[in-house]
Amino acid sequence: MEFDLIETIRVRTQGVRPDVVLGVGDDAALLDVPAGQRLVACTDTMVEGVHFLPGTAPGDLGWKSLAVNLSDLAAMGAEPAWALLALTLPTADARFVERFADGFAELARAHGVALVGGDTTQGPLSVTVTALGTLPIGESLPRAGACAGDAIFVTGTLGDAVGALRLLRSRGPGTGERNPPEVALRARLNRPEPRVAAGLALRALANACIDVSDGLLADLGHVCAASGVGAEIDMEALPFSAELRAAFDEAACREFALSGGDDYELCFTAPAQRQAEIEARLTNAGCRVTRIGCIVAGTSVRALDANGNAIATPHAGWEHFTP
Ligand code: ADP
Ligand code: MG
Repeated sequence: MEFDLIETIRVRTQGVRPDVVLGVGDDAALLDVPAGQRLVACTDTMVEGVHFLPGTAPGDLGWKSLAVNLSDLAAMGAEPAWALLALTLPTADARFVERFADGFAELARAHGVALVGGDTTQGPLSVTVTALGTLPIGESLPRAGACAGDAIFVTGTLGDAVGALRLLRSRGPGTGERNPPEVALRARLNRPEPRVAAGLALRALANACIDVSDGLLADLGHVCAASGVGAEIDMEALPFSAELRAAFDEAACREFALSGGDDYELCFTAPAQRQAEIEARLTNAGCRVTRIGCIVAGTSVRALDANGNAIATPHAGWEHFTP
């Protein structure tokens, strides 16, 4: 049964990459890393009831389990190449695995990623993906590179995924399917688009970068802590989608952007005088970018209103093991 499931996954995710010397089927995969490049590795787990609602469509789960990892690679400026998939399932549900693998494969194909191995076990539903990519030596986008005086930028729009979750929680699944703004928000929650092209465009341009998975305050806080600096966010500048604005008032949009999670946009810092170059490169990469504040001396991340006064910020982002 286990091997039927693995075969189901294998046939659906077969990508052709000449650098896969040996993929699914042996004890471990053999991969060629190009000369002059570093291997970039990350992993993320999604547990039912913790990271996704019970009843989430299997195809969406397959997509998102890879997307959150490609987002981590993007935040390093890496080019994704390979992935491994550890799948824990309550039962050997072939139909579930087919749909899961189709969703996974759709995103993998879009980014030229080959699934090269994994593990299949029985237990409470949980998905762990490991993503591997490459990066020219010396061109990574670490968290620790932010300097006082840098401008802070964010790709795309913030808050959509948490907005979708809020609507789902209040109305229940199976509702809102015919409401266009809600459909668009739900797509942001279920099928986030990792900012891979933006990450590549920011190589040797951004000083520091992180993907926004736990909310802007928390994630920008990580950049500041790693870099030994503080930050000021201009609340008026935060980018929201038309769909989020249609469904929520300004205060809710701001709260979602600051402390919601699951946006998978990139937040990065760069010298302010490079703004035009950044805008040109990201537009080229098909990605909206907004300047949302500046890096300052100190250690605190503050949100400022239109008059430059600090405003009370809601609790920071998601953390596991919080008592
Ligand atoms: P082993 O006992 O050596 O760990 P497994 O029986 O777990 O091997 O897996 C057999 C092969 O199938 C290995 O190449 C493994 O990488 C691959 N594999 C297992 N589960 C998955 C999965 N969910 N996705 C992709 N490849 C998988
Ligand atoms: Mg195994």
